[in-house]
Amino acid sequence: MNLILFGPPAAGKGTQAKRLVETRGMVQLSTGDMLREAIASGSQLGLECQAIMSRGDLVSDEIVIALIEARLKEAEDAGGAIFDGFPRTIAQAEALDAMLSKLGKKIDRVVRLRVDDVALLERVSKRYAEQGRPDDNPDSFKVRLEAYNRNTAPLLPYYGDKDLLTEVDGMGSIEAVAADIDAALDS
Ligand code: AMP
Repeated sequence: MNLILFGPPAAGKGTQAKRLVETRGMVQLSTGDMLREAIASGSQLGLECQAIMSRGDLVSDEIVIALIEARLKEAEDAGGAIFDGFPRTIAQAEALDAMLSKLGKKIDRVVRLRVDDVALLERVSKRYAEQGRPDDNPDSFKVRLEAYNRNTAPLLPYYGDKDLLTEVDGMGSIEAVAADIDAALDS
């Protein structure tokens, strides 16, 4: 089973992905986590991406596609992946389809977490106060939301046309959202 958790920044994708890892033994593939690890390790890749990420812009398709490619086989062998924060552009979605197809696999479901912008801003300002993640500052978050609306939202018709999209209300408690995701996956 391959699942994309889809939604704007701070919609709760990472939280729900981690729960699905626990409950279903799937592998979380979060390009944001991989990039933050690269920055923390001081690698060349991290150095290249740090400024782009703290501004809130997207890093290049080539970089994130290569990160996913390096981990995909292992995730498929383990029973499937939860894509969290990837794909974020049509080019990434097409590359993902091609990479999966080479392994004889496909995307089975795309769950879109719907959260309105006011709630997102509240969540992220709380997270910024608590965790101080650099790209959660109000200016960077505005850029991230713009990137979502411009580059990532066009993936909704891409997956809708393939009949893969399920919408889940992401405004409820973590448990309520989790129950709706489970229902979507088990239906
Ligand atoms: P996230 O933790 O998923 O919100 O990602 C944090 C930041 O990493 C994003 O704002 C981008 O700068 C970068 N990033 C993560 N995933 C991608 C992606 N699929 N495409 C481009 N940039 C990404």
